[in-house]
Amino acid sequence: MPTPVISEFSLINQFFTNATQLRKHVALGIGDDCALLQLTDDEQLAISTDMLVEGQHFFPDVDPHALGHKTLAVNLSDIAAMGARPLGFTLALSLPDSNPSWLQPFSEGLSALANNYSCPLIGGDTTRGPRNLCITIFGAVPEKYALRRDAAKAGDDIWISGKLGDARLALGCLRGEWPLDPAALAQTRRALEWPEPRISLGLALRGIAHAAIDISDGLLDSLQHILEQSGLALRINVDAIPRSTWLSTQPLPIQRQCTLTGGDDYEICFCAPPSQRLQIKKISENLNLSATRIGKMTLCDTDHPSIVLHDRAFNIIEIDFKCFDHFSNEY
Ligand code: ADP
Ligand code: MG
Repeated sequence: MPTPVISEFSLINQFFTNATQLRKHVALGIGDDCALLQLTDDEQLAISTDMLVEGQHFFPDVDPHALGHKTLAVNLSDIAAMGARPLGFTLALSLPDSNPSWLQPFSEGLSALANNYSCPLIGGDTTRGPRNLCITIFGAVPEKYALRRDAAKAGDDIWISGKLGDARLALGCLRGEWPLDPAALAQTRRALEWPEPRISLGLALRGIAHAAIDISDGLLDSLQHILEQSGLALRINVDAIPRSTWLSTQPLPIQRQCTLTGGDDYEICFCAPPSQRLQIKKISENLNLSATRIGKMTLCDTDHPSIVLHDRAFNIIEIDFKCFDHFSNEY
């Protein structure tokens, strides 16, 4: 009999929530970018774990320097999405061998980012096995400023930092799903291999945004988490989603697939009241990082789907592709 397919989230809900037994010091458990532990009356410790597995998250021949950067970047991205300040991280390494020509550039990529964000390596574990890189990261955030997925309000604008879809565009070319000219591949491959965690943005959004999430498994996946946890619905103008010149010259179905369901963007999707628009523009200028309004959080209405996608002329868009799920065979 074939093994039944259970999605990533059903798996966690079905098998791992019994072990959680929430205690008073757990301000937030499973389900957000980070868990939050209450340290003092107003300070919380933000904790997240992310693992990169060879063949699943990266190609075996990827540049180890870039891989060192990305291993930490994807974890810093979860700290950013919480509005937290990075404190330090542990590194669990499973490696097939101890080859210095791989370890040296990997450690350089990792250390450069750790130093940039004053986020030191404070421990870990090393073992022989298939290449598997796992970081647990720690950050700090005042309780009143934590950017949780469950705090969006109806009427909030939905914003996106940077541009979406380039990482998926490069991945599609590397996997042979579509062609790209060499210049476009070189540029979009940077988005795939060298994501920049948006720590400064997360800190700047304290007290400005109600809710935030990083986009690791596709925009629609991130939006689904926000609306489920905030008990709301939302609408998105798909033509407003910011994309690079490389992506905007691709056929429309590829643009939509890459921006809506492509993974590995590591931009921040956040919800903020319209009264903060000017302030957000200023933050965006100060950080030299674009912030684009793409939609609105709305009240749930059983007569309408919880996510409404429309184009700039308000025509409803239907899409039939799925965001990334480790236990689904479609992507
Ligand atoms: P992110 O993309 O922000 O890293 P994930 O989608 O990987 O978040 O995970 C969603 C939530 O599920 C997170 O809160 C994470 O801590 C939790 N989670 C994932 N795997 C497990 C597990 N095996 N046991 C407990 N919690 C888990
Ligand atoms: Mg995340």
